[in-house]
Amino acid sequence: MAKALQEVLPDTCHGLCTWHLMQNGIKHLGNLMKHGSHFLRDLKACMYGYEEETEFETAWSQLLLDYNIHENTWIKSTYSLKEKWAACYMKKVFTLGMRSTQLSESLNADMKRCLKPDVDILKFFKLFEPVVEDKRYNELECEFEARDKLPRLRNPSSHMLKQLAKIYTPTIFDLFQDQNDLFWDCCVKQRRESESFVEYVINMVDYEGEWKVLFYPHDKTISCTCRKFETWGILCCHALKVFEAYDVKKLPDQYILKRWTKEARTGIIYDAKGNEIEDDPKLGRTLQYNSLCHDLDNIASEVAGKDEEVSFIRMVMHEAMKKVMECRLEKRHETNERDDPIPLSRIDMPQPTGIKKRAGSKRRTRIKSRVELRHRNGKASKSMSQPIITLSQSEQSTDIGASSQMQFENPFSFTKLLMDQSEGPISLGGPELGGDKL
Ligand SMILES: [Zn+2]
Repeated sequence: MAKALQEVLPDTCHGLCTWHLMQNGIKHLGNLMKHGSHFLRDLKACMYGYEEETEFETAWSQLLLDYNIHENTWIKSTYSLKEKWAACYMKKVFTLGMRSTQLSESLNADMKRCLKPDVDILKFFKLFEPVVEDKRYNELECEFEARDKLPRLRNPSSHMLKQLAKIYTPTIFDLFQDQNDLFWDCCVKQRRESESFVEYVINMVDYEGEWKVLFYPHDKTISCTCRKFETWGILCCHALKVFEAYDVKKLPDQYILKRWTKEARTGIIYDAKGNEIEDDPKLGRTLQYNSLCHDLDNIASEVAGKDEEVSFIRMVMHEAMKKVMECRLEKRHETNERDDPIPLSRIDMPQPTGIKKRAGSKRRTRIKSRVELRHRNGKASKSMSQPIITLSQSEQSTDIGASSQMQFENPFSFTKLLMDQSEGPISLGGPELGGDKL
């Protein structure tokens, strides 16, 4: 793989999966891990613990000495590839914190169910489709949860946390909060000011080492020798310490990566060849609908019980709807076209099952994935390809006319596509094949 990557993607950095490296370590040097030995802990420290190359080299030499493994073949070959796994080298690479291949391993495990030797192409798609749907369902569920709940602030008075709680996804926000907590352990050891920038040397209580932070006050650019932002896309506690010294209370926009925000999926997306990827229009409409419902739900919760405010909101919504209809009429006159608006209740929207709001009760058990539910209920894939989904809206009805019960059709089905084609020949990019012969 390393050779292929060099040839096809010469600018790509090839890293090794740290989980697999550990497994190989256990396989080759398992004898050193018995009787309370600290070999595995020391090996892990070499992998993750040292940010500086000199520190890593010292620790590695000590490891070889302590366990007398200078001549071990696996140790020698692993060391020769140190640039692909040691933290001090990997901090030069934009890894987003991914040092193992567990994410793809999880997909591999799912795919193995579809890739048995006795599975023909029709069966393959029937098995493959629920896997894809399950992934999409998980995405929708995460998106729903991210919009529905605001994460808990560990320091409720922090302006930066308040700002980022609304922007970051819950997982990334928690990672940022970890850095914000560590900020309290940071101390300024040295400070040197030049014309255009300030250099800080930061150390930390109970942590070895020191970190240099460069800050350019005129455009709030900051960089740290730990390179947390350059590798993870999240600003480190050392940089936050310097921001605090300069009263920077809001995280500057250049340090908020879109990929970590709730808006990560909005906008134009390009594939590897630079072609624009077209959004699924039905999914886009679903996301807009969900987002609007969430906003309206917040307004309703805020004003419910206050008669004046409820009347005001009703009046504003009535006016807004009137304006929308007027604009539509104007456009229709301009284009002279008949363009019947599609009522919301008729929109085909793939929605996650299982997300059902019940007034006054909290969900106590984990929402089962669609695959799990199907396994449990023993239902055939019919329910997956044509899900009937009930969306329970807020009990308070509004004037905007959103219906509380909808039926949805899956927008795309590999199985359906194949079955539709199975009456005639299917072209798979090669010679035409009869559907029943596949
Ligand atoms: Zn740092």
